[in-house]
This record gives sequence, structure tokens and C-alpha cells, in this order.
Amino acid sequence: MLTITRATRIVVDESTERDGDLVLREGMVSAGRPAGSTETVIAGDQDETLDASGCVVTPGLVNAHHHLLQSAFRTLPGTRGVAMKDWLPTMAAAYARAGVDAELAHAAASVGVAEGLLCGVTTVADHHLTWPGGSDTGGSDTSGVAIATATADAARFLGGRLVFVRGSARDDPQEAALSAEAIVQALLPRTADGMLQLAVGPAGVHSDSRETFELLAGIAAKYGLRRRTQANEQVDVVIALERYGKRPIDLLEDWGWLEPGVTLAHLCDVTEDEIRRLAASGITATHAPGCDLPMGWGIAPVAALRTADITVGLGTSGGGSNDAGHLLADARLAMQVAPLVGPPISAREALGMATAGSAVGLGRPELGTLRPGSAADLCLWDVSGVADAGVADPVAGLLWANPGRRPKHVVVAGRVVVRDYQLVNADERELVARLGNRVPRVPTL
Ligand SMILES: [Zn+2]
Repeated sequence: MLTITRATRIVVDESTERDGDLVLREGMVSAGRPAGSTETVIAGDQDETLDASGCVVTPGLVNAHHHLLQSAFRTLPGTRGVAMKDWLPTMAAAYARAGVDAELAHAAASVGVAEGLLCGVTTVADHHLTWPGGSDTGGSDTSGVAIATATADAARFLGGRLVFVRGSARDDPQEAALSAEAIVQALLPRTADGMLQLAVGPAGVHSDSRETFELLAGIAAKYGLRRRTQANEQVDVVIALERYGKRPIDLLEDWGWLEPGVTLAHLCDVTEDEIRRLAASGITATHAPGCDLPMGWGIAPVAALRTADITVGLGTSGGGSNDAGHLLADARLAMQVAPLVGPPISAREALGMATAGSAVGLGRPELGTLRPGSAADLCLWDVSGVADAGVADPVAGLLWANPGRRPKHVVVAGRVVVRDYQLVNADERELVARLGNRVPRVPTL
């Protein structure tokens, strides 16, 4: 049993907050004791109490859209301020130089998951798009099982939850489907405890064919997996119109991907009519402003999507476009840019997107809230320093004040995985060194 005591505020979900304590048992939130209770918990050697004095407690953040491999390729020369058609070959050349294999996937995922945990991300969805047999790298190992397994191992070792999305980016459709099925068969037995989830996802209609979408949908149906893709980044709309004479939403509808269980990331350039159709279809969305803005793709109309009753989660996307995996910073960015494309969104709404909104899109209602019975994934954010002084509303201040803040403690499935701002299960410097040895820094001067 783990007890969180004396919290300044506990954010249960987007519309419920309370003071007091929180009790975690067997990996779940149990009924909390009332505010002001100071009784000491004594129930066995394994029991622990975390003092949350001066802290806001939130559900663990859920990063619904990341590309963990790109954590090895941040601020790469030639990838900033360039068009997607120039970004892609520069990234592909870097992948080819490094050689994408299980060792690199493990080193990059270790860094990406660790960074996430240190920033309060307890669940990350890794949309893995780069395969040795795929066109990005020109290799020959097409099963991808070793890469998926290495990524899953990295997250499990650190204590974070992973959603591994077998993506595709211009892969041969049949090979992508065979690989996806091989990965599912290899890793499905490891998903029972909720620490690993599997999904499938072509990169988008701009990169993958109808056949890839249909084959991966078939695997999702066969094994009960969620489907994820990217849509309506500005470049996606341009290429879809050029190649098919249709907009991406029309193509996704034709190809059977406007259905419940599908999550669409980005959605920058959507019309009012498209928002209505998306809402009617039952899809969910992932907002990724930390990628969309630097790439020049525009700003998704989040308030309009939410008003239309589309569940919106939040993702960082990868290090190739967003050099950080700091989801709370991107929730702040989402608030800052929302008024440029419609009504503002509040801090509670932004936090709700980064927690329950993302979790609903992953089909994981037990994540992203701290209701009794929810998974015991949470963050303790110390709001007692000077950067938070003068804040009237601790939840609004959590997002608006102190940009770049990190949580003091992070708990996943009832286990402390970040304590006093440090990883519990790994040495941060060793993870950095391992990636640095595998991918030497590109000289820039
Ligand atoms: Zn993306």
C-alpha cells in the first residue's frame, strides 16, 4: 500500500478536485481518506507514505503520440524550418547512418521513456515508423519483432507504461502486415498486466496506400487492437489532393478508418464539415502542437473539436520535430496557441487532454484519472517554490506558471518510479551514455 498524504490539491479528473490523502492498493486507487486526516498508516513492511505537502497531485500524464526512435535524432541539422519533403530524407539519411536495429531502438526508447517519466508521463504511445525492411533504411530484417521487443523491454525496465504502435511509412503493405502480426503474436502474452499495449498505425494517407490501411485494420480487428494514424497535417492535405483528388478525411472514410477505435493525430487543417463527420464517426483525436507549430503545419482547432464532442488527447510527437518529450510543456503550449484558432482552452481542459483525453483514445479508461478503481499512476508536482509564489489557483498555476517544471515523485501502477526528481530504476547518465555511444553526435561546427 502506498499513501499520498497532505496534498495541496488532488486532481481526480477534469471536473473533480479535492484535498487530503490518496491511498493506492494493488496498483489501483482506493477510496481516499478525508482532508485533514493525519493518522499514520501501519499495515506491513511494504507500506510507504509519500508526503505531498506543497504538492499538486495529478493523474500520470499520457503521451498519446510519440516517435521514441527520434529521441536519438534531435535538432538534426537540416530538419528545422524546412518542408516535409526535405525533412523526410534528412531523417532517413540519419536513420541509415545509425542503422536502425534492436540495440538502437532500445537505447532511444530508454532515453525517451526515461525523459517522459521525469516529466510526469506515465504512459507513452510510441508510433514506430522506421523498420529495417522499410524504405527509410533499406535493410533486410522485415519481422520487426526484435525492435518491438527491445522497445517494450526498455519501458518495462524503467517502470513506464508503453503502447507500441506498429506503424508504417511507405512500407510494402504485405510486409508491414506480416510484421505487425508477428509482433502481436510475440508480444501479446506480455500485455496482460496493462504495462504494454499493442496497436497498429500507418503514418497517413500521404505515405501509405489503401492496401496498408486495410491490412493493418484487419490485424486490429483480429486481435482487438486500437488503430492510430496521422491526418490533416498541412502536407497530408496537399499530397492527398495531388495524388487522389480528395482530402485525407474522405480517403480515411473510403478506406474504413473513420470508425470508433481509431485515433487521428494532428488534425491541423480540418473544415467545419469535416469536424462534424469526425464527431459522427466516433474517432478520437490527438493534438500535437509541439510538433505542428515548428513544422509549420498550423494549429488544430481543439476547442471546436471538443465542442463537437470529439475526445482530444495530447501528444508530443517525436524528437525529429519536437525536441522534447515534455507533455506538460506542450499542454501549456496548447493553451497559449488555442486563441489563435478559436476559443481559448483552460488549464483544466489542457490537463484533461494530457491525461484522460489521451487515455480514452487508447481505449484505457482506467488511466488518466484518480477515481477509486483507476490505475495508481500519478505525479506529485511541488508548487511551493518561487516560480509558483503568488499563484491563486494551484491547478491553473500548474500549467501556466513555472514552464518546464518536472514532478518531484512519479508513481506507476502503485510503484514509485521517480523519487525526488530521479529515476528509481536506472541511472540517467548511463542511459545517455549508451545512446551517445550508439549514435555519435553529428558535428555541427
Ligand atoms: Zn507525428
